[in-house]
Amino acid sequence: MTLKKESVDPALFALFTDLPRESVVEVEGSVHRSGKSRRGVELTPTSARVISRAESPLPLGVVDKVGAELATRLDHRTLDLRKPAVRAIFELRSSLLQALRTAYLRQGFLEVETPKLLRQGAEGGATLFPVEYFDQRAFLAQSPQLYKQMLIGAGLERVLEIAPAFRAEPSDTVRHITEFTSLDAEVGYIEGADDLRSILETVLVEAFRQVRRELEERGNPLAGDVPELSAPFPRIPFSTAEEWLGRPGAEADLGTEDEKAVGERAVREFGSPFYFIIDFPTRVKIHTFYAQRKDDNPRLTGYFDLDFRGLEIASGGPREHRYDRLVENIRTAGLDPALFPGYLEAFRFGMPPHGGWGFGVDRMVQMLAGLPNIREARLFPRDRYRLDP
Ligand code: ATP
Repeated sequence: MTLKKESVDPALFALFTDLPRESVVEVEGSVHRSGKSRRGVELTPTSARVISRAESPLPLGVVDKVGAELATRLDHRTLDLRKPAVRAIFELRSSLLQALRTAYLRQGFLEVETPKLLRQGAEGGATLFPVEYFDQRAFLAQSPQLYKQMLIGAGLERVLEIAPAFRAEPSDTVRHITEFTSLDAEVGYIEGADDLRSILETVLVEAFRQVRRELEERGNPLAGDVPELSAPFPRIPFSTAEEWLGRPGAEADLGTEDEKAVGERAVREFGSPFYFIIDFPTRVKIHTFYAQRKDDNPRLTGYFDLDFRGLEIASGGPREHRYDRLVENIRTAGLDPALFPGYLEAFRFGMPPHGGWGFGVDRMVQMLAGLPNIREARLFPRDRYRLDP
């Protein structure tokens, strides 16, 4: 809009110069081409109506170059989201969700929705949020794991769920939040973990291509950050990762710094942003009673992580489909099989070999948009301290 004093009605000029930033106004006027304006057109107003006058001062600048602290930005998220650079992240997120969904459906997956109020969490323990449920105690779902497997037992063969997962993560890290979006897939009639990995990589190659194309069409500045992928992604045995870290055979889980170090080496050696870390020992994936032991070796699972440039994005593997062994695994994990009646029933009347994975959408957006903190990848993040807005 051009506001030259000499060409605009004085009352209108006064209205605009007095109007606080970010107010909502309806303006009428004449539009003409202009080389000076960013959009190539300028508007000379003839009348204006203030629809919503913004309060002043703003708690957070929208057009200012000066960056605000993340906490301030999240406290005033509606203003923060007006910044084009922030909106670009959520265009990427929307495009990624859509592209992943399309790619999975093309692979024959059925999209499902499973309960988020549960009597028992999949992995038990410390990260469950209890909920008052009338006169009972319930928990918010950490993962749709057990239901996905029951649906394989129901003959659905390939299921996909994109839904919130809740984890009472007390630690304050840049890659954990208490409510995140999990994309969970489960596949029946598999022969081994490679069947799973090859679906996952095919879906990602296709989805990334679509996201990049869409963002380019929209002129989104993040388009160039979406890499062109090619399958297969490198596979690094857990034991090799331990050798790289200088602690062969230690069988300790990979911490944040370990993941980063392995990531740097993997990307350098293989040139792929995505890579699998395969064959996790049972001791590392101890909590997952539903993980199948590889070749019935009690020390080794066929489990894998999928990492992107040093951050774990997904984790999965073949599940135990044999009833007796599953019950044994539940006992070994220190849990009571009686807590899982509906789940275990699904294994007693015909259950094919199957497996799947959980994929963290927020971490994927964080990495693609180059965000230092996962909270920036969600509109209204939840963490140990933040329940508002
Ligand atoms: P980590 O070891 O990094 O805490 P995890 O082993 O608990 O993750 P899984 O239970 O295997 O994670 O969940 C699968 C995926 O879900 C993870 O790879 C990650 O992308 C995502 N995820 C898990 N927990 C969180 C969380 N608290 N916040 C954001 N994403 C998460």
